[in-house]
Amino acid sequence: MAAELLIKNGRVIDPANNIDKECDVLIVDGKIAEVGGKTEDRGQKTENCRTVVDAADKLVVPGLIDIHVHFREPGDEEEETIASGSKAAVAAGFTSVVCMPNTNPAVENETDVEYVHRKGRQTRKTHVYVMGAITKNREGVELAEMGLMAEAGAIGFTDDGNGVQDPAVMLRALKYAKMFNVVIAQHCQDDKIAGNGVMNAGYHATILGLPGIDGLAEEAMLWRDIQLIKRTGVRYHAQHISTAGSVELMRAVKKESLPITCEVTPHHLLLTEECCAEYDTNYKVNPPLRRTSDVEALKQAIADGLIDALATDHAPHLQSEKELEFLAAPFGIAGLECALGLYVKALIEPGILDWPGLIRLMTANPARIIGIDKGTLSRGKQGDVTIIDPDAEWTVDVKKFISKSRNCPYHGWKLKGKVEKTIVGGEVRFEA
Ligand SMILES: [Zn+2]
Ligand SMILES: [Zn+2]
Repeated sequence: MAAELLIKNGRVIDPANNIDKECDVLIVDGKIAEVGGKTEDRGQKTENCRTVVDAADKLVVPGLIDIHVHFREPGDEEEETIASGSKAAVAAGFTSVVCMPNTNPAVENETDVEYVHRKGRQTRKTHVYVMGAITKNREGVELAEMGLMAEAGAIGFTDDGNGVQDPAVMLRALKYAKMFNVVIAQHCQDDKIAGNGVMNAGYHATILGLPGIDGLAEEAMLWRDIQLIKRTGVRYHAQHISTAGSVELMRAVKKESLPITCEVTPHHLLLTEECCAEYDTNYKVNPPLRRTSDVEALKQAIADGLIDALATDHAPHLQSEKELEFLAAPFGIAGLECALGLYVKALIEPGILDWPGLIRLMTANPARIIGIDKGTLSRGKQGDVTIIDPDAEWTVDVKKFISKSRNCPYHGWKLKGKVEKTIVGGEVRFEA
């Protein structure tokens, strides 16, 4: 007897297949069996064990994908674990996430990759993918075991937290990566330009007496990498771009049809450097919050189709560490559980994107970037589905977070758009 899950009467949005209509979705034995029509109308009879979910007035979309999270395991389990992060992820509608390798120790060989995968499977919440480090211990000197990690299932490589500084090392990494057809992702930041900066460089940093990180630090490395991609043709992904200058570089990249993609975080769409005025370390993030003109440029870039994906860069930290002074506190925002509402606020409410446009940047596009066969409701695909109430209003309360960490500047924000159910492989793994 097959297990069936029938999601009825929802507004089904599947951007990859250009579907946006009210219809049913049928999942059989964990796979998408049918999208469209009204299953009952056809008087279909079934012998199978069927669960019915009524999704009237709700959005039924491919499971959301976040290609940039930090789950801190191994090494910093008091901040987050793969289990706690996975639970937070399904509560936020994400059926697939990609863990960054800057754990302690870093993910740099096949055993480390298998460890993350195993923990993810054991938790049975979201699908957990991982990127391996480009260089050993993320030091930017010697290449890590990229081939073995790719064989073990790493879906890409990055030294996130840092960019690869040495252009010769980066070129070698790209040539090597070419052999296994995986994506190379980069935290674009030139350390020499960034120096010991802790917020965006400029007027506000000067007033606050804090060292700044000039946008040029990001743009210089992105420009350099574009030249390297022209040479190697490797799939390359610029993580969390944050400046108007980076947007202009991406505009040129798209004209030349280079295999280069980029992502933007919620915080770079909603917050600016001025938020740092009270020395509140919840606003200390890397790359730093930029100027209003940068935020506007990122939004325009999304409207123009230059941004390929939205990603949270969920970076949990202990309260005791975030309570240090601004100079000493760690960089990062834990924003996974409010991501959808934040994107609605940043992009749908001002009319920059409609729902299909937003869902594309959270499903089909990120799946394509990391090369996984997900992000659509095509027949035969894994039954990963997120059901969203687009009108539900709610208030962010960090005390209710499933994530272990509370370093989130959105506490008290009123948001619209809430995840109702998250279905992974045909199984309801989260219910509001
Ligand atoms: Zn980063
Ligand atoms: Zn990151």
